[in-house]
Amino acid sequence: MDQQASLLDKLFATGLLVETGVQGLYGRSGVFEDVIARFDALVSRLGAFQKAEVLRFPPAMPRAWFERSGYLKSFPNLAGTVHAFCGNDQDHAALLECVAAGDDWTGGQKATDIVLTPAACYPLYPVIARRGALPEGGVTFDLQSYCFRREPSSEPTRQQLFRMREYVRSGTPEQVQAFREEWMDLGQKLIAMVGLPFTVDVANDPFFGRAGRMMKMTQREQALKFELLVPVNSEENPTACLSFNYHQDHFGKTWGIETADGAVAHTACVGFGLERVALALFRHHGLDVTEWPAPVREALWGTE
Ligand code: AMP
Ligand code: ZN
Repeated sequence: MDQQASLLDKLFATGLLVETGVQGLYGRSGVFEDVIARFDALVSRLGAFQKAEVLRFPPAMPRAWFERSGYLKSFPNLAGTVHAFCGNDQDHAALLECVAAGDDWTGGQKATDIVLTPAACYPLYPVIARRGALPEGGVTFDLQSYCFRREPSSEPTRQQLFRMREYVRSGTPEQVQAFREEWMDLGQKLIAMVGLPFTVDVANDPFFGRAGRMMKMTQREQALKFELLVPVNSEENPTACLSFNYHQDHFGKTWGIETADGAVAHTACVGFGLERVALALFRHHGLDVTEWPAPVREALWGTE
């Protein structure tokens, strides 16, 4: 049995994750959720100085926003759309017949005006744009959402539905770059506080297809994405638990976000993969949270 399968099997055996028969789609135990909540709270404590505006969206967004965001250009393979039954009585009967016969019943499902959120910050940009020009100091938001990516895998760290906590900054290039620099430091401090080994490296998004190859190279050359990596499945292929992204004026241009003096706004985000951090904690400190090292328990649970 490979190491990946065995970590997942242990998580199932202890009930920390609940198997559904679909790769990357898992239930979570109370203990697992508590670890996520405590880490999320630690992120909030570390980020409190920013006085970020808290916004929470459901794990889906308007299809129109999704189309305009450009996601389909870069990651068509990862997208998830919401389809629904839109038929009459006759269509209903046909559907039930298909289900009963074990045939494909999904052909009649029609695309709705909703798609699944691929990253917590995607529904934010149109909302920022709608408010008009940014204030002098720019804006900072605090987001968290379940995100969908169609990437089934036997690695527990690669899920199809997982939570992403984010801080997003929009403003001048200087404001946004300073934010990303600061979070690259704070992110390392945060992960050190919970006793995990890590490295930070330049990275690229998994842009699709032939055109994507160029985009990956450009993103790396311009150092637009960094990741904080923790060994979870293996030492050789550590897992990206935090990402630090500088989008330049991509979302500013796409959505018409303007700085206080009328320039196209820049954006950056720091993303915390909450399930990945939790899995890294279980991998390094053991599956029994009561046995975790005292400083780690202290950082997450305080002195309770
Ligand atoms: P990204 O937008 O790809 O940089 O993702 C932000 C963060 O979400 C990453 O740093 C990961 O920690 C987490 N993440 C990305 N994809 C997955 C996945 N398939 N399963 C679990 N966590 C993920
Ligand atoms: Zn983001």
